[in-house]
Order: sequence, then structure tokens, then C-alpha cells
Amino acid sequence: MRRNNRSDELLLKLQNVIPDSRLLLNEPLANHTTFKIGGPADYLVFPASMNEISAIMMITKEYGIPVTVLGNGSNILVRDKGIKGLVLKFGNEMACIKHTGTVVTAGAGAMLADVSCYAAQYGLSGMEFAIGIPGSVGGAVFMNAGAYSGEMCQVVVAVSGVCPDGSIRRFLPADLNFGYRHSIFQDNGCIICEVELTLQKQERPAISQKMDDYTLRRETKQPLEMPSAGSTFKRPPGNFAGTLIEKAGLKGLQVGGAQVSMKHAGFVINAGGATAEDVLLLIEEVQRRVYEDSGVMLHPEVRVFGEE
Ligand SMILES: Cc1cc2nc3c(=O)[nH]c(=O)nc-3n(C[C@H](O)[C@H](O)[C@H](O)COP(=O)(O)OP(=O)(O)OC[C@H]3O[C@@H](n4cnc5c(N)ncnc54)[C@H](O)[C@@H]3O)c2cc1C
Repeated sequence: MRRNNRSDELLLKLQNVIPDSRLLLNEPLANHTTFKIGGPADYLVFPASMNEISAIMMITKEYGIPVTVLGNGSNILVRDKGIKGLVLKFGNEMACIKHTGTVVTAGAGAMLADVSCYAAQYGLSGMEFAIGIPGSVGGAVFMNAGAYSGEMCQVVVAVSGVCPDGSIRRFLPADLNFGYRHSIFQDNGCIICEVELTLQKQERPAISQKMDDYTLRRETKQPLEMPSAGSTFKRPPGNFAGTLIEKAGLKGLQVGGAQVSMKHAGFVINAGGATAEDVLLLIEEVQRRVYEDSGVMLHPEVRVFGEE
């Protein structure tokens, strides 16, 4: 990032809102994605409240600076040249989890596994499916993440967020437009800050048993020991991406450090030193060869950010 008077002024304004410990310059995003890939963000901010986010949105709007939001970085590929502008990364600073009756409220930065375990501890069922999804609550709502017949849309009753103009809004289920790996937040640019989930009372051992079962299934089938962004492709209607990729003989196919996992063909892994370019070329090659083999066009589930 080249500095000039205007960028110095912008930095001063950001520093008025965010302490230095939560504002990093030129931070490599490989440190903040589960793929362990990605060039630097000009500004990386770890927000601690909705008001802070609101203030940041107004400053970035004034300076015409693009804002990108990251949760745990488990469903994204950041290009090698990094992300221009400001990246808001949700983490521990907005990860409070609490409950009243059967409604659990979680900050967008809370990890899904922590919410699952919290709910289990209080005998609340409904979040077991999320135990092995390595995302934040905000990222999970944005993606309508799901597994083992569970999906975020089944439990979310309200979302509070900050809109692009800096205003704070509360969304109810009818506003959320959930679909397969889709929510309204993919269209409206609002930033998810807090989520309310409605769960059901259940005996704790039954909840734990489900969670253990899901964990075992994942550990057996998925390459959890390698960096990845989970399933690379969306599930094509009536089929499975992994099955089609395996059928096309692509298990183990490699471009640079990016590889189609030998353990689960639906995952592209960083087998060591992969660049974003390697991953993107591998994705294209898999799409081309699966289409040739079975006539099905696979569409990436992984979201790609950054400068081309
Ligand atoms: C090993 C592994 C297994 C996985 N298994 C599953 C699975 O079973 N099911 C499944 O659905 N997914 C799975 N995933 C993918 C991923 O974990 C989920 O999509 C998860 O919900 C992403 O959350 P995140 O916080 O990491 O979001 P990120 O990857 O950081 O971001 C994803 C998208 O959400 C947006 N976003 C994030 N936070 C916010 C926010 N607060 N406000 C607005 N937008 C936001 C980002 O801009 C981005 O577009 C897996 C990934 C891995 C690595």
C-alpha cells in the first residue's frame, strides 16, 4: 500500500475509533484463513462492537474505501495480491454467547463449535449439526451453513447487523431469504453482528451423543489434518461434487501446492506452499474435466476475494 496525505488522514480517523492492538496494516491474510493462503489486507480491523463497525462504515464511505468482511476465513480463498481497502475480521472481541430460556444469543465472532458446546451444556438441542463446521456464527448465517440435515436457517430467529450506510438493523426470519448456502446478506451488504437462535430442551446425553457421532463421521471422511476451505464446490442437484470428481479420476490431481484431496475428492487442500493461483487453476481444471466426464458443471462454494 502506497501512503499519501489522504491515506494518512484515513489512518488517523481509524485510530480514533480502533486501538492499535486491533488495527493491523499490510497484514498477510494467509494468517487468517483456514486455507493458509492469501496476500495482505491494507487495513485489518478486529471490531469489538456494533457502534465501532458503524463508525468504520462511515469513515470508509467518506474515503471511498472498500470493506470486506471475514469470519473465521473457512470458506474463502484470498488471492495472492491481497485485498485492497479495509478488512473487518470477526473474532474473540465479538464472541459473547448467552441464553435466556431456549434462545441462545451469540456474537458474530463466536465459533460454531463453541455455540454447539454451550447449547449442549445447558441441555439445548438444535446446534449439534454445527459441531465440526470451523466457521464463525456470522459466516455461518451469511452462508446458511449446514451439515447432517441441519442448517442455520432452521434455528435463526433474529440477526442484528450494520448496514452499508452505518445504520443498525434487526432482521427477522421473513427478511433473511435463506436458501441452499444463501442468505440475504449475500445481496444487501449488511454486516452480521449478533444472532439469536431458538433451540429445544433435550437431555444432555442425547445431544452429546449426536455431536460425537457427527465428529467421528467428519474425522473419518474429511482431510481435517490439511489446510482447506471445506467443500470446494456446491452440491449439484441430485448429485455430490466429490462423487463426480472421483468418478472423473481426479483424486490427487495437483497444480503447484494445491491438490484434490486423496481422502475426500470434494476438498481442494493446500498440500504445502499453495498459492491462490494454484487453487484457482485446479478448480478450473476440475470443472473442465468433470464437465467432460459427466456433463455436470460444478460451481465453487468457496468465495474468492482480492486483487486479480
Ligand atoms: C474442514 C472444513 C469443513 C467444513 N464443513 C462445512 C460443512 O459441513 N457445512 C458448511 O456449510 N460449511 C462447511 N465448511 C465451510 C465453512 O466453515 C462455512 O461456510 C462457515 O459457515 C464459514 O464461516 P466463516 O466464519 O469461516 O466465514 P468466512 O469464510 O470468513 O466468510 C464466508 C463468507 O461470509 C461472509 N461473512 C463472514 N462473516 C460475516 C459477517 N459477520 N457479516 C457479514 N458477512 C460475513 C464473508 O464476507 C464471506 O463472504 C467447512 C470448512 C472447512 C475448512
